[in-house]
Formats: sequence, structure tokens, C-alpha cells
Amino acid sequence: MTTPLHFARVSRFVPLLSLSFTLSLAACAVSQQQEVALGQQAADQVKTQMAMLNDGVVTAYVSALGNSIARKTSRSDLSWQFTVVNTDVVNAFALPGGFIYVNRGILSRAENESELAAVIAHEIEHVVRRHSVKQMEQAQGANIGVSLACVLTNVCNNQAAQAAIQVGGTAVFAKFSRTDEKQADDGGFQNVIRVGISPRGMLTFFQKLLAEEQQSGGSGATASWFADHPGTQDRIDDVRQMLANTPSATLNALRSDSPDYQNMKRRLAQLPAAPKAATR
Ligand SMILES: [Zn+2]
Repeated sequence: MTTPLHFARVSRFVPLLSLSFTLSLAACAVSQQQEVALGQQAADQVKTQMAMLNDGVVTAYVSALGNSIARKTSRSDLSWQFTVVNTDVVNAFALPGGFIYVNRGILSRAENESELAAVIAHEIEHVVRRHSVKQMEQAQGANIGVSLACVLTNVCNNQAAQAAIQVGGTAVFAKFSRTDEKQADDGGFQNVIRVGISPRGMLTFFQKLLAEEQQSGGSGATASWFADHPGTQDRIDDVRQMLANTPSATLNALRSDSPDYQNMKRRLAQLPAAPKAATR
């Protein structure tokens, strides 16, 4: 009976030491708590570097849609957060721990709820499958361990540690492999069906982005999306296959749009135009 007390006392007095020791040695199995802490740190950085769209109607809708999808995944226990970035650049991204960002360029191009849900559900699936966390665990680098320790213990005031945080930041924002992207598409496809939304929007939205990309010659608002999401034609083919494998009775029972979505679109059209930045 004394063992638990002993452990409690030890962990209370040496948490920082044991934490950095474990992380730099194991480099590392990332717990959910660590994942959320990393995501939060990255989210704080994002907040200082990107302009967010702070409109009540738009953000409430995106947040409600995102949460409805996330809550039906295996990681419903995360405190999911959905943010709209005020840029016309077409992109969306996910940080570890459930921080999802959708650029306004996605909202303005998505014609119905099904198209936007597909993008959000894809990003959610990256988090559900812990894609960026797995990259960090595989990195096996001391820098990652140091970075994690910095995030979690707040002890990094020297330059070397700050540099390590940058390395950690890069890992957090690392690009996903094509395998990861396919998994996010496959899972995202199921995620939208689970909340009663048609996955057809995944196909139509990819097609739309591909058409815009081809028209712009790779230098338009969609360039960032295609840099982050290679193999769009393959993905379109995969989605087509998944649609073909889904009974039409199932597909036809799902909704493609909602009054709330169109209400959000009307609101978006009333807002001052997003800055047309050349980069993310
Ligand atoms: Zn992705």
C-alpha cells in the first residue's frame, strides 16, 4: 500500500528531470498530453503568423461542422478547435492534438456543405491517425526530445534550445506522405458519411481545385494546396472508387448541403475580401 504514495512523492518532486530524460532517451513515444501540448505551442505560433477570420457567423458554422465530424471519430475526447485563416490561398492543415485550420480560400470555393466537410474531415483524419506524431516518434532525434521537453517544461531560454524548438516546429508542420494522404482521404470519406453528409463533395472539390490549378499554370491560389497535397489525380481516382463501392441507397440518403452552410456563404460574401497573399 505504500508504493503508490512513494510514486506520488517522486513524481511531484522530479517531474521536469524525469520528463526530459525520458524524452531525449526514448525519442520517443508521444503521449496524448504531450501531443496536445505540442499542438498548442504550434497553434500559438500560428496565431502570431497568420491573420484569422474572426467573424461570429462563419467561425461558429465551421466550428460546429468540424466538431460534429470530430466527435464521431475515435478521438472524440480531444478538445478539437477549428479556425478560419483569412487568406484566399487554398489550403487547410492540422496540428497535433486537434487544431484544424481552414483557409478562407477553401470556404469561398466550396459550393456546398459536402465539399467543405470533405476537406475538414480529411484534416481531422490526419489527427485521428496521429500522422504528425508518428513522424516525430520516428524522427528519433535528440532535437525532437529537447523540443518536447521545452514545450512541456518551459525551461528553454537559451539559443540552442530555441533552435531546437524550431526543429520541433518543422516536425509539427511536416508534410505528410502519400500513404498518409490516402489514409486521410479514406478516413475522411467515412467521417463525413458518419455524420450524414455525402462524400461526393470530396470528388467534386478535388476536381474543382485541379481545374483551377491547371488553368492558373501552377502560380495561382491553389499552388499551396498542390505543394502540400501531391497526387491529386490519383486521389480523385481513389475517391471515385470509394464512391463506386458505396451503395447508391446509402449515398442518396446523405445530405450535400444545409441552410446553415448557405447562410455562412452569404455572410462570407458580405465581409471585406481576404488578402490575396502569394504564399501561405
Ligand atoms: Zn492531408
